Order: sequence, then structure tokens, then C-alpha cells
Amino acid sequence: MRRITFFGATGSIGQSALDLVARDLDHYDVVALTGGRNVAQLAKDARALNADLAVTCYPECYAELKDLLADTNVEVAAGGEAIVEAASRPVDWALSAIVGAAGLVPGLEALAHGTTLALANKESLVTAGPLLLGRAKAHGATVLPVDSEHSAVFQALVGEHMAAVERVIITASGGAFRDWPIEKLATATLAEASSHPNWDMGQRITIDSASMFNKAMELIETKEFFGVPPEMIEVLVHRESLIHALVGFNDGALMAHVGPPDMRHAIGYALHWPERQHLPVERLDLGKIGQLTFEAPDQARYPALGIAKDVMATGGLSGAVFNAAKEQALDGFIAGDIGFLDMSTVVAKTLEKMSSGDGLQSQAITLDSVLETDRLARIYAAEAMKNLG
Ligand code: NAD
Ligand code: MG
Repeated sequence: MRRITFFGATGSIGQSALDLVARDLDHYDVVALTGGRNVAQLAKDARALNADLAVTCYPECYAELKDLLADTNVEVAAGGEAIVEAASRPVDWALSAIVGAAGLVPGLEALAHGTTLALANKESLVTAGPLLLGRAKAHGATVLPVDSEHSAVFQALVGEHMAAVERVIITASGGAFRDWPIEKLATATLAEASSHPNWDMGQRITIDSASMFNKAMELIETKEFFGVPPEMIEVLVHRESLIHALVGFNDGALMAHVGPPDMRHAIGYALHWPERQHLPVERLDLGKIGQLTFEAPDQARYPALGIAKDVMATGGLSGAVFNAAKEQALDGFIAGDIGFLDMSTVVAKTLEKMSSGDGLQSQAITLDSVLETDRLARIYAAEAMKNLG
């Protein structure tokens, strides 16, 4: 029996992961499930999977969750500290699928206990990659990628030496507005940005796909996770989303990972790693699909990519600024306070503001410095939103 925990169990990634585990409950002992406001789902899953513990991050949702699980043995807790406490419980494998920087501290805690962490929460790598991976190393814990592109790179690297890698190419669908005239982007509405051509995902990452902030995050994630220099990392627009990444080697070979646009593949790979096991995902019929297309990304259409390049070059705490400013700008767009294109303006302005002075490069990346940088960046981003003019 493998003991497992799911952070962000009620989200899009969390639900895909639970789907895999629910098919094979004889092999798993579910320790904790965490979620947010969707306590009905959380309670339903905790009951069905016979979890030891269910945690909502919102204290105001505690009573409802407690009530829903009153006739079970499931322990109930609420709040950020309760999620960290859940992360301290011994398990063999945990899924990090909270959205946003809120995933960082639970991930660090799980790694401090030697837990294998399947990481969907890219924000924790963007914000504090060296801290997260350093924590894993210090405790002999493994971090496995769950983001589809990074899982694809990871799979293409099995049996290879990093010294032979010349480039890493991650693909992008192009998002909801890939065929829109650039002039129209400023008028994009929340509803329009919240629908993805190929993937069914949480709202935040779907909007980030339309703006390519998601791909921008993934560039930084690639640099941090695989330790490759920024100049070796490329983005390729591939609208079918069937090739998720390619690794180029020094003999000219490109190893491409091809798979259906279903996150259960990447989650399942991390769940069963280092083995492969049968997964209930579509088998692609390439003869029917016929052709795959590729285009270089249009930098003018996707300013987020250029911002990510600057962040990778600066390094240090600039990832924490980038992520926090992006989260704040995304909140602003979702609330209707700023326009679609304003998001990249806000992030660029926040980075500019916080790059002056003693610099983001020189300070040590500790949990304190990261959290303080995150806090300040949100304040500056909020100011930048007010002064868009
Ligand atoms: P989602 O919005 O569907 O789910 C987010 C989960 O996090 C929910 O369980 C929610 O209750 C929980 N949560 C939200 N705020 C929280 C907080 N402050 N504290 C604790 N828990 C909180 O998001 P998602 O699409 O499943 O994405 C989850 C993560 O996986 C993100 O980092 C995303 O970038 C990444 N990811 C998602 C996909 C995808 O296909 N959805 C693909 C690759 C990577
Ligand atoms: Mg991805």
C-alpha cells in the first residue's frame, strides 16, 4: 500500500489524479486531501477514498466540511497552517496541485519529510526554484514534474546525459487568441480568455495560456527544474498540443514526446515513476490526425515570453516578483479592473520597479526573502494597476 496525499485535490489537476487513484484503491492508502471552497467535492472524495484527513484552506468553510463528514472517521481541519500540518504527515507520494504561490510552503514541508513530490504547482518553482530543489536535495526527496511539457522533457531524458543536451523545446498551443488580430487583444473579455482550444484546465491557467504567461512560467520552470541555461530553451507554437516538448541532443537528434492532451498521462507517469503502468488515456491515431503544425511564437503577440527571458537572465528573486505580479495582475483582470494586455504591462512595471536598488540578483533565496519579495511585488503590482493611465 502506498500512502499518498493530494494538495489541491478539488482542482482540475487534483480531480484528474483522484480519478487515477480511485480506479486502483487496493494499492493506495489516502492520507490527506486538501481543497478550498468546494467542500462538497472535498467531502465526497474524502469519503469515497477513505482519507484520514480533509483540509479546506478557508477557515470559514470548516463548519460545513465538518458537517458533511460528521458520520465518517475523516478528520477535518481548516486554514493554511492545517495544510502545512497535513504536509508533515508521512506519505510516500504527494501531489502538489494547489494553484499559485500558496503551493510553496506545503511543498517545502512535504519535501522536508522526504516525500516524493509530484509537482503541478509551477508557481513554486518560478517563485523559489533553488529553495524548493535545495530542500529536496537536503532531505533526499524527489521532485517529479507534472506539467505536461516538463513531464515530456523528463521522459525524453531517461537514460541520457545532460552534457549531450543542446536544447529543450517546449510547445504552446497558442491559447484562446492565437488567431485573433493583435489589435483586438486589448478588448478580450474574461469569458473569451477563459476558454482553451485544447485543454480543460482551471480558470487561472487557462487565462495564462491565452496571454502566454503560462508558457512564460514554463520557460522559467524548465530552467529551474532541469538546470539548463535560458539560451538553450525555446518555445514552439504547436496548435494540436500533441507533442508536448522536444529535447535536442548534440548529435542532431530531437526526441519528441507525443501524447494526448490529457493531464492524466503526466500525472500517471509521476504516480508510477520510475515504472510505466497502464493509463486510461486516449491512444492517438496519427494516421487519422494526418499532420502536425509548428510555428515560431510571435513575440509582439505574446510579450510575456520576452519578460520571462529577462527574468531568467536576472535570476535570484526576480522569479518571485514575476509570479506575484502576474498573480496580482490576473486577479485584476478577473475582477474586471484591468484589460487583457494590461497584465503584461503590470508585470513588466513591477519588475522594473523592484529591479532598481540593491537588486533582485544578489539577495539569498530563503523562505523569508521569497515571502517578503512576493508581498512587496503584490503591493507594487496593485499600484501599477492603479496608474495604468
Ligand atoms: P484549479 O484552480 O482547478 O485548482 C486549484 C486547487 O488549489 C483547488 O483544489 C483549490 O481549492 C486549491 N487552492 C486554491 N487556492 C488555494 C490556497 N490559497 N491555499 C490552498 N489551496 C488552494 O487549478 P488547476 O488547473 O488544477 O492547477 C493547479 C496547479 O497545476 C497550478 O499550479 C497550475 O499551473 C498547474 N497545472 C495545471 C494544469 C491543468 O491542466 N489544469 C496543467 C499543468 C499545470
Ligand atoms: Mg504546461
